[in-house]
Amino acid sequence: MGYDLMIRNGTIVFRENVKKADIAIKNGKIVAMAECLIGTADQIVDATGQLVMPGMVDAHVHICEPGRTEWEGFESGSKALAAGGTTSYIDMPLNALPATTTKEALELKLAAAKGKNYIDYALYGGLVPGNLQNLQELSDAGVVAYKCFMATCGSDLPGDFKNIDDFTLYEGMKKLAELEHVLAIHAENAEITDRLALEMIKQGKTSASDFVASRPIFTEVDAVKRALLLGKETGCKLHFVHISSADAVGEIITARNQGQDVTLESCPHYFTITARQFQAIGPLAKCSPPLRSKVEQDKLWEAFKQAKIDMLTSDHSPCPPEMKFSATNNMFEVWGGISGCQNNVDLMFDEAVKKRKVPVTQFVRMIATNPAERFNLRAKGEIAISKDADIILVDPNQSYVVKTENYYYRHKHSPYTNRKIDCRVTKTFVRGQLVYDLDEGIVGKPIGQLILSQKSSNYIVPS
Ligand SMILES: [Zn+2]
Repeated sequence: MGYDLMIRNGTIVFRENVKKADIAIKNGKIVAMAECLIGTADQIVDATGQLVMPGMVDAHVHICEPGRTEWEGFESGSKALAAGGTTSYIDMPLNALPATTTKEALELKLAAAKGKNYIDYALYGGLVPGNLQNLQELSDAGVVAYKCFMATCGSDLPGDFKNIDDFTLYEGMKKLAELEHVLAIHAENAEITDRLALEMIKQGKTSASDFVASRPIFTEVDAVKRALLLGKETGCKLHFVHISSADAVGEIITARNQGQDVTLESCPHYFTITARQFQAIGPLAKCSPPLRSKVEQDKLWEAFKQAKIDMLTSDHSPCPPEMKFSATNNMFEVWGGISGCQNNVDLMFDEAVKKRKVPVTQFVRMIATNPAERFNLRAKGEIAISKDADIILVDPNQSYVVKTENYYYRHKHSPYTNRKIDCRVTKTFVRGQLVYDLDEGIVGKPIGQLILSQKSSNYIVPS
């Protein structure tokens, strides 16, 4: 049989085991797998010495287009994701302008995204004060989940994203429970973090450690508990984004053990940069919730090793350099968001699998299988027959130093610059097509396709 592509001699990471085998791909799908597979193909890739894994399914990316394309765009952002070993992602409803909280705004985003993506993408809709009546139309238009903010966010610009009040959170959950959609939540207590920040600024305390101190772990735990309670009342499926503390992980796992439909993600920066290192790195490592102490980071790693963290996401949230480096050096004023998606798979494979002996199967479930299943991206997330051939080759024995000149980001900065990583993505395939090669860089055209929710009225059953 003639295949389009064969990947030979690699070590394949499945969801439960690891095995040497060949993979055959036809029309973008994985169609055959075996040791020494018989057959011919238009293209044969030798993966000797490399791990063959499903590409990362990054459930938390801020592309910012339309409206803030000068922060990051679909083209530059999806190139960086591809080079980092990500094959599909879900774009957040903020920081684009307008935020994706209505069908009209969604249509603007779809138009902006068309023909620019190098990997496949899906969209979140926003839940904000005043858009309860728009949730249904966003679902019909194909969003795969919703996102809300319990911490203060947004600007005074018309159309910008707004954080939620408890009443809207409650009513929104009721509606989303009806629609059977997952609500992703940024969980931090807005009132306490805002007031602590004001107190700090009043006292002239504006350093990195002052910023960290203004968002203590209990403010994350408090918001998590409140959202869990409302989730229990309403029956809404919940997903907690970028959880930064083992205490919050514990609350979520307890709720799940008691029967609640809830998942959580964390991000590479919480595992690889401490609050103390944030002081040295400066604004590039500012994010909310903030980076934590070494003691807390160790506790989060314990939760990771015990498989209590369902998925890793980048929370790639870039901005122009002038928003990071203000003359005042006031950490409360600079933009909070970390640019890092281009090194996520390498970095976390090195830290988790190589250094801490986390099983590679667990790692693959965390970067690919679990997010694909949670957000119902049915063709994604796993090396298996009939799944999309979204495949990365990873060389576990290659080392490199992260360099500015290699970034595909619109703005070539990241807290990982100059970091040495002992692992490297060497090839990224999306539906069987090579989009990134370590030697050649980004290859070919932007072939990324929109993934619609299966609840969408536009959804077409794949043949
Ligand atoms: Zn985010």
